[in-house]
Amino acid sequence: MNRRTLKNDVIVIAAIAVVAAVIWCVVKLSSKAGEFAVVELNGVETARYSLNEDIRAEIACGDGCVNTLVIRNGEAYIESANCPDKLCVKQHGIRMTGETIICLPHRLIVRIIGEYGVDATV
Ligand SMILES: [Zn+2]
Repeated sequence: MNRRTLKNDVIVIAAIAVVAAVIWCVVKLSSKAGEFAVVELNGVETARYSLNEDIRAEIACGDGCVNTLVIRNGEAYIESANCPDKLCVKQHGIRMTGETIICLPHRLIVRIIGEYGVDATV
């Protein structure tokens, strides 16, 4: 009886490992390189830049606050900002759909979206 239980445990563990591997593959495949960087202030889209073009844009969010958004080699990042914590500047560049850079003090979000203008990650 014990032997049988052990065998069942092995089967269950193997099944879980297979399911985990499948989920990992699906997640990997669904996070594709994005097409646009969308800039949102207070949850409202204010600008949209193609990741295929290198740009440097000053994003003013009122009251003198400014974030400098740079897109280079298909990657978007905040080059400089005058927010108090500078967390947005410290964040790594983003290029995959669903990735975001958030500047909380300025209520700014830079989000990567896919080619059809929708968030491809489910
Ligand atoms: Zn910031």
